Amino acid sequence: MTTIFTKIINREIPADIVYENDYIIAFKDINPQAPIHILVVTKKEIPTVNDLGPEDRILVGEAYLALSKIAKDLGVSEDGYRIITNCNSYGGQEVFHLHFHLLAGKPLGAMLSSN
Ligand code: AMP
Repeated sequence: MTTIFTKIINREIPADIVYENDYIIAFKDINPQAPIHILVVTKKEIPTVNDLGPEDRILVGEAYLALSKIAKDLGVSEDGYRIITNCNSYGGQEVFHLHFHLLAGKPLGAMLSSN
């Protein structure tokens, strides 16, 4: 099943792309939850963290290297930021294509909402 993120990867729908390499694409979240909210999406369609296998070791490492680079490029690495991956229902996952939220640009407060 093709995800909305694969359509962005394939340029079938638009997105504000900030970085791309052989492993990942990074673009601005359409509904930002912080002044900076970037999604780093694996080009390989992996539905959830549960579906990762040993063959994905390099891919996950590359995703984190990209997150680190993007944070530096956007000038938020010293102030700090948060990286989130939601998984399935309790995690609040909406798009079943592995991705990492990079949130930054203000103090982000407690890690969990109060509800
Ligand atoms: P998650 O709940 O972790 O699956 O996060 C999915 C995220 O994708 C949400 O933060 C949405 O705002 C974001 N999103 C959905 N569609 C698009 C899109 N077309 N362009 C950019 N971000 C999107």
